[in-house]
Amino acid sequence: MDILYPRRCPICGEIVPKKGELICGECKDKLVYIKNPRCKKCGKPLEFYKEEYCRDCKRRRHYFEEGRAVWVYSKEMRSSIYRFKYDNKREYADFYTEELVQVYGNWIKSLQVDAIVPIPLHKKRKRSRGFNQAEVLACGIGRKLNLPVMPEVMVRDKNTVAQKELNDKERQENVKNAFKIPCNEVKLKKVLLVDDIYTTGSTIDAAAKALKSKGIEKVYYICLCTGGVS
Ligand SMILES: [Zn+2]
Ligand SMILES: [Zn+2]
Repeated sequence: MDILYPRRCPICGEIVPKKGELICGECKDKLVYIKNPRCKKCGKPLEFYKEEYCRDCKRRRHYFEEGRAVWVYSKEMRSSIYRFKYDNKREYADFYTEELVQVYGNWIKSLQVDAIVPIPLHKKRKRSRGFNQAEVLACGIGRKLNLPVMPEVMVRDKNTVAQKELNDKERQENVKNAFKIPCNEVKLKKVLLVDDIYTTGSTIDAAAKALKSKGIEKVYYICLCTGGVS
């Protein structure tokens, strides 16, 4: 397979020089992995160990329990995720989920979730993009950790505008009531949400709120990237 379809680096886009690898060594070194100290709620990197929560989590109540992200949303990751989503580079998910499971596999296992649920796209947007990037990630994680992935649990019935164009207040308004749980009786207790980027948490919160309204008790999340130090 490698000969027919040489592996392209998710960062520089060149053919990965080392066989069997998913990224060039140099490119991997450019990525900023989130480490401690991090916010105990949303997982954003913090500047000091004495802080427990980031500025955002201190002033806002979240509907989810806890979440983590693998990388800081640097210019490298920004452009990589952009190509993943809008240039149909689905194979980048192999690298993303490999790293995600490497770093947070044990954390995810410790949560003992009943299912992994990707943040849904509105059906119109999914049709135009061809796939839901969060679903591709969720499936990769589920496969590697042997956990069920249930994209059908939640739908997005409001075709929201892209969050990146909005400020904090507008983001919350934009995703408010955007998610619906079609099934009346959801037999899940703990769920892990998956998305590509976490910024202020409005999307994850709206999804967690919808899930909790149907009796789901604990909602966690995992993302590829989150904003910088706050
Ligand atoms: Zn590279
Ligand atoms: Zn936080």
